[in-house]
Amino acid sequence: MAYTQMDTYLQECRTLGASNNDMHILCGFECDYDARYIQWYAEHLVDTKKVDYLCFGVHYLVGPDGKETYIKNLPSQKQWLDLYTDTYVAGLKSGLFLFGVHPDLFGMFYKEWDKDAEYSARRILSCAAEFDMPLEINGYGFRKPQIDTQSGKRLQYPLENFWKLASEYPVKVILNSDAHRPQDLDLQNTGAFEFTSNLGIRPYGWNVGRNTDTTVLSLSQPLP
Ligand SMILES: [Zn+2]
Repeated sequence: MAYTQMDTYLQECRTLGASNNDMHILCGFECDYDARYIQWYAEHLVDTKKVDYLCFGVHYLVGPDGKETYIKNLPSQKQWLDLYTDTYVAGLKSGLFLFGVHPDLFGMFYKEWDKDAEYSARRILSCAAEFDMPLEINGYGFRKPQIDTQSGKRLQYPLENFWKLASEYPVKVILNSDAHRPQDLDLQNTGAFEFTSNLGIRPYGWNVGRNTDTTVLSLSQPLP
C-alpha cells in the first residue's frame, strides 16, 4: 500500500466497523520490520489507536548494491539468510506486534534446505517461543508459482521443513489467508489448514472482544 492510501484505508475500515454491528471489523497493518520505523509505528499507529493491531514480516532488506531490495531478489547466500534472520528475530523481540507473518519467507531467495537454513529456522522458532509471539503460516504462498530447487519443485513458502521443526518448540502457530482479493479467502483443499493437519500442527484461533472503546484481539485455544 502506498503511504498516500493509508488515511483512506483507515477511514474506510472504521466506517465499515461502525456500520456492521453483527461483525467485528479490525483495523491493522502488516508492517515491514525495520528498526528505523519502529518509533513511527508506535507513535502514529498504535498510541493514537488508529489501528487495533500490527503484525510484521521482513519483505525488504538493504541488498548487495546498498538499496532496499525485495528479498526474493537477494542472492541465495548465507550472509543474506543471516541478515533476514537477525531482522526477523529483532521484530519478534520488539514488543510492538501481535504476531509475526511468514517467518519462512527466506525460502524465496535461500533455495536449498541445508544446515544454515535449519539454524535460521531454529533461531526464529526458539525466539518466538521465548517471547510468546505467535507465528503465522501464510496462505498466499499456496497461490504463488512454485520454484525450482536442487531437490525439486517446492512452494516459495510456507516451507515444510521449517514447520516440521515447529513441533520441537512451544510456539503458537496461527493461520492467515493473506487474501489480496475476496476470492482468495478460501482455497479449498490446498491451503494452510490442510498443510498444518498434514504436519500434525494444531493452530490457534482468535478471540475478539471489546474493552471500552478498544477492540482487543487475543489468542484462543488451539483449534480441534
Ligand atoms: Zn507479507
